[in-house]
Amino acid sequence: MKFSPLQYVTSLKCLICGKEYTADNRFTCETCGIQGILDVQYDYDKAGSHLTSHISHRVFDHWRYRELLPISHDIPLPHLHIGWTPIYDVPRLAKHIGITKLYLKDDGRNPTNSFKDRASSVGVMKAIEFGFKEIACASTGNAASSLAGLSAAVGLKSFIFVPKRAPEPKLTQLLIFGATVLRVQGTYEQAFDLCGEACQKFGWYNRSSGINPYLVEGKKTAGLEIAEQMSKNLPDWVVVSVGDGCTIGGIGKGLQEMKKLGFIDRVPRLLGVQAEGAKPIYDAFYSCNDLIPTETNTLADSIAVGTPRNWRRAIKMVKESFGEMITVNDEEILEAMRVTARLGGVFGEPAGVTGVAGLQKAIQKGIVKPNESALVVITGNGLKDIQSAKKAAGEVIDVEPDLKSVEEKM
Ligand SMILES: *Cc1c(COP(=O)(O)O)cnc(C)c1O
Ligand SMILES: [Zn+2]
Repeated sequence: MKFSPLQYVTSLKCLICGKEYTADNRFTCETCGIQGILDVQYDYDKAGSHLTSHISHRVFDHWRYRELLPISHDIPLPHLHIGWTPIYDVPRLAKHIGITKLYLKDDGRNPTNSFKDRASSVGVMKAIEFGFKEIACASTGNAASSLAGLSAAVGLKSFIFVPKRAPEPKLTQLLIFGATVLRVQGTYEQAFDLCGEACQKFGWYNRSSGINPYLVEGKKTAGLEIAEQMSKNLPDWVVVSVGDGCTIGGIGKGLQEMKKLGFIDRVPRLLGVQAEGAKPIYDAFYSCNDLIPTETNTLADSIAVGTPRNWRRAIKMVKESFGEMITVNDEEILEAMRVTARLGGVFGEPAGVTGVAGLQKAIQKGIVKPNESALVVITGNGLKDIQSAKKAAGEVIDVEPDLKSVEEKM
């Protein structure tokens, strides 16, 4: 199908000082430095009218929102299927956690099995547009495996910096896609800084979503989809696990855009969920102070971020939606893994189901009312982290190859 040749991006705008820049190959604000995350601005009048016609063209992946993405028309789209993930109504899980209506949006069904494919697909297109042959990122795992997969799909070489805690299945995913994997004997924060330095030194495009202004635009497509897929049944709450803050920030932006364009008449309240062992954004949200970096200690490796880069955007989006934040411990996350699989039929990794744990707690605390409705974004597939899944799952029953032995064990 043919897309409109127009781009609707007008500028990049600093989230702190509001200074605007042309939308080129830059990262953060010149005045505010590394903290000055830039936000992509659009001409919504023009984008909106073209968008409406494309939606009717039955493009059932996230490129259906191409007019609201910062991508050039003359670069071919990656052939992998990204986005337009299913939303399930899960009444037994709803009853278990104590809410009237519960939906799960299963983003583990993206090509490399996590939400990050939405961002990486935009990242590889920007790399090609800016003339790069190589792209790099630092990641707790999913951004990396996603970048490796999308790079393989479009023919870029990828370099990945991973912290030493990254689970084995995620590393395997990187290697099979042909990425060069550099395991940093240190934390995610150290891997992040090292990646930035290496990009400068070797001329690689930096996909690190904390500072790359374009990546979060890919993440916002989940918000656009929720608005369109749910339209008349829009939930009261959208629940998202939070590490760096780009995912919830992106989803919030997508929902706001759909309101601006008249697809929905209100924005659901956002519930951001952090792990107790990595909650700097939660702390900044309720203290109203600047973020204080912390140590991290949680089995939800994908949200174990002690120095989040996009915390201002996350907090802004949660506040603008009249939302809340909450934390959960590792036990609650493992329990959410079990019940989401057993009562919802969806197998998520720890960070993937952290939203379910957070929603349950928010109901217990009276933040979310039992008669409200909620949608939890399941951000990553459970096979990404077998180690944690095993902890949650229980044991196999060994039997002799005869029926008597089975009878005994039943
Ligand atoms: C990256 C990730 C998140 C959180 O996204 P942030 O942008 O870091 O807040 C949540 N769940 C999974 C599975 C992830 O990979
Ligand atoms: Zn600025």
